[in-house]
Amino acid sequence: MAISRYAVLGYPLGHTMSPFIHEKLFAIHGVSAAYEKKELPPQELPQALPALRKLDGFNLTIPHKSAILPFLDRLDDRAALYGAVNTVKCNDSLIGYNTDYIGFLRALEDGGVSLSGSVLLCGAGGAAHMMAFEAASAGCSLTIAARPSGLPRARGLAEEIRQKIPGAAVSVCTYDAIEGDFDLLLNATPAGMYPHPEAMPVNERTVCRCRAVFDAIYNPRETMLLRTARLNGSKCAYGMPMLVWQAAAAQEIWNGLPFTAGQVAPVIEEANWEMERVFR
Ligand code: NAP
Repeated sequence: MAISRYAVLGYPLGHTMSPFIHEKLFAIHGVSAAYEKKELPPQELPQALPALRKLDGFNLTIPHKSAILPFLDRLDDRAALYGAVNTVKCNDSLIGYNTDYIGFLRALEDGGVSLSGSVLLCGAGGAAHMMAFEAASAGCSLTIAARPSGLPRARGLAEEIRQKIPGAAVSVCTYDAIEGDFDLLLNATPAGMYPHPEAMPVNERTVCRCRAVFDAIYNPRETMLLRTARLNGSKCAYGMPMLVWQAAAAQEIWNGLPFTAGQVAPVIEEANWEMERVFR
């Protein structure tokens, strides 16, 4: 049987967990596939396309998620909404998808966290863009917090949401101007990520005013933000389930084979162990 070929594209890629996770997921359904990492500088994306078309599919990460758009023949609805693609299926044409939102929603579900009520979102970059749209689409009242340097981007995101989701309740503030209690805090910044695990995007007082917390960071498994939330008795959801579920959703697009929660849970655990092994 022919081996299917896949890859992840990014720059820089450093140590990416994608090959490890995809190999575990391919093994669950007995799919014979090779998954490699391709470190591709942004300016080399156009020249790389003929080789990419020969693959069965590929994933994209920073800085290619939006840069790939002009080269695709078709986009699914979510990829079009976010203007970002993390999964491409190659046939005679190239079709772009976004499975990050599936990973995000499944990670919340795994943590028993509901996307409802008042939401404080930290960050206004790629991951925050997706989370903001998901929160606004779910009818949440959304506050986007940003550093002073990130305010224009956060305001642009808020405006885009108001235009695409009429009636959406969305406001923007800096971290030092956050006020009130929230049902859910979403961290879509790298604050607290290895090698700076002591950092948090907001202060302890703000964390303790949030009934639930999701941190997109998956290295370390429990960030300072999540530790603070857990000790405060808040519900917690973390980043590795998001990473693994978005990969499972990509494979479902490529091969049409869905995954159950029971199949994905051990892969999340193995990915946590692998990350511990590599980084500590
Ligand atoms: P990005 O596009 O570079 O956006 C990062 C955002 O964080 C920007 O709004 C930036 O604001 C802000 N920021 C950066 N450093 C900060 C700090 N020290 N304090 C407060 N805000 C800060 O990155 P991204 O792709 O959205 O990724 C964000 C995080 O999500 C990363 O940790 C990434 O690993 C994680 N992530 C996880 C998954 C998963 O599957 N679990 C998927 C995607 C991303 P400025 O404009 O002020 O710089």
